[in-house]
Amino acid sequence: MRGFIFDLDGCVWTGDVLMPGAADVLALLRGQGRALTFLTNNSRARAATMQAKLERLGIQAVVNEVLTPLEILGRVLDTHVGPASRVLAIGGPELEGAVVDGSHSLVPMDRYREAQAVVVGNDFDFSYERLTAASRAVAGGAAFLTPNLDPRLPVEGDDFLPGCGAIVEAVAAAAGVRPLVVGKPEPPLFELALARMGLTAEDAAMVGDSVNSDIRGARRVGLTAVFLAPKGGLDGVAHYMVKSMSQLRRLLETYTR
Ligand SMILES: [Mg+2]
Repeated sequence: MRGFIFDLDGCVWTGDVLMPGAADVLALLRGQGRALTFLTNNSRARAATMQAKLERLGIQAVVNEVLTPLEILGRVLDTHVGPASRVLAIGGPELEGAVVDGSHSLVPMDRYREAQAVVVGNDFDFSYERLTAASRAVAGGAAFLTPNLDPRLPVEGDDFLPGCGAIVEAVAAAAGVRPLVVGKPEPPLFELALARMGLTAEDAAMVGDSVNSDIRGARRVGLTAVFLAPKGGLDGVAHYMVKSMSQLRRLLETYTR
């Protein structure tokens, strides 16, 4: 494997704490000259923010090695809705920024009927009013997009926050429409990661803790899939399963010298 793609939440870190062994795995791969990409489904942060967090936690990376669905959101809106689309954005400020930087415009919540597209990310200020606006716009014919369907966001102490997917499902249920997923497990972010590393899927592996997003997505594009499963279990979808980043480091030390 000449390149490795790592999921962030639940693999490199949980919340603001590095996963045990993660720094060692990444240092080992760097030392071996292998290409790295950090590929997160985060719906609230763009690459620069995630790169800054990696640095803050002591992991060296450049912005170009980090990908989030927000990096391709503008382009996906171009393709599926059209250039200069009017967008109702439910989510954080960086999601709104990605819409605007993609040369689309934001529709205020009370003018949801004007929206050509509704983008729903994880929204820490989600409300009944926003649910009403988003679901009515989608039911009325606006395109429905989301960075991801991940139901939970793992945080410190073996705990979780409700994920983007939990909010998206509320909108989907009320609107009666399924969303288009911009991030994992759909192929575009994986393909962009490979293009940036200059590799084909046969030469790279994806390490992730979500069967539905990381492992199924990796298999779909032909990547070798490594399932990080601290609590064990067999998923039957990944090529390899490890219980920790420390175990992954031991395997890499044995087989990639
Ligand atoms: Mg994860």
